[in-house]
Amino acid sequence: MKVIYEPGFNYQLGLLKYLHPFDGEKFAKVISELGGSDIEIIYPSEPVPTKVINEYLNELMRKLVLSKTLVLRTLEVPSIPFVSFGFIDKKILTPMRLAVSGTLLGAENALKSGEIMWNLSGGFHHASYANMEGFCVYNDVGISYQQLRKSGHLSETDKVLIIDVDAHHGNGNAFSFKDNENVHLLDVYNEDIYPTSQYTRNRVNFPVPLKSGVEGCEYLEKLTQALELITVNYALVFVVAGTDVLAVDKLGGFKLTVEDVAKREKIILSHLKTLEIPTVVTGGGGYSKQSASAIAAAIKACSTL
Ligand SMILES: [Zn+2]
Repeated sequence: MKVIYEPGFNYQLGLLKYLHPFDGEKFAKVISELGGSDIEIIYPSEPVPTKVINEYLNELMRKLVLSKTLVLRTLEVPSIPFVSFGFIDKKILTPMRLAVSGTLLGAENALKSGEIMWNLSGGFHHASYANMEGFCVYNDVGISYQQLRKSGHLSETDKVLIIDVDAHHGNGNAFSFKDNENVHLLDVYNEDIYPTSQYTRNRVNFPVPLKSGVEGCEYLEKLTQALELITVNYALVFVVAGTDVLAVDKLGGFKLTVEDVAKREKIILSHLKTLEIPTVVTGGGGYSKQSASAIAAAIKACSTL
């Protein structure tokens, strides 16, 4: 297993960081907590180019993604008069485009080597080619899939699975792949919270809807049962490993511990390893101060896979 990281993943916002509960520098904290371990880290060389983003977005989104007001709304912060679009682009959108590169690099390497690749950022599962919301501007999984098809890493008939264990339903991925029967979705989510769009829920092949307040034991049991339904020989799996399932997280509504998150990732990745399916993990959401520790614990638990 290899970890994908770049210092540029971190959102260095100064005082503006207090406008959102997201710990923008958690990626650096994960690396710091992994210090001393012999886990290999690889680095995406540069943010995915605008050309690649534009190839993915529809015509309207190509324009909307350049609107400061709409991008700030997507990031769930109030409009700030003294902040320019250039500042947002440099401090938030560029790290996000670097995260997209990380997911694509991970997918390419996983397909080439069969190794599990773990991108600390990415997993922007509320974004699609036609929309941005919920702190997700660019759908890294959708963009990566498009580029992998284009480069021939994935063929027209290759089947791909997205396992989404972020607390929120992955409506952006469900929408993006609504007409693609070769892309399947397994989603473990809190059905009591945002987003609740039924038409994207109906798209999920292996749904695991859970109620607010669910603890680790029930969560892991239901996840394990869903994983056992995987019978297709997938060419690639993307995992959206959000840590907003932690009990301390104010948005996710679940009650998992750091140890539960480590167990969750171990269960998923061990299963995929046994099935010999190339896998790339992406970060997803995670809005608490425990998020970095949970990710580091999970990486350590899976380091021998
Ligand atoms: Zn989430």
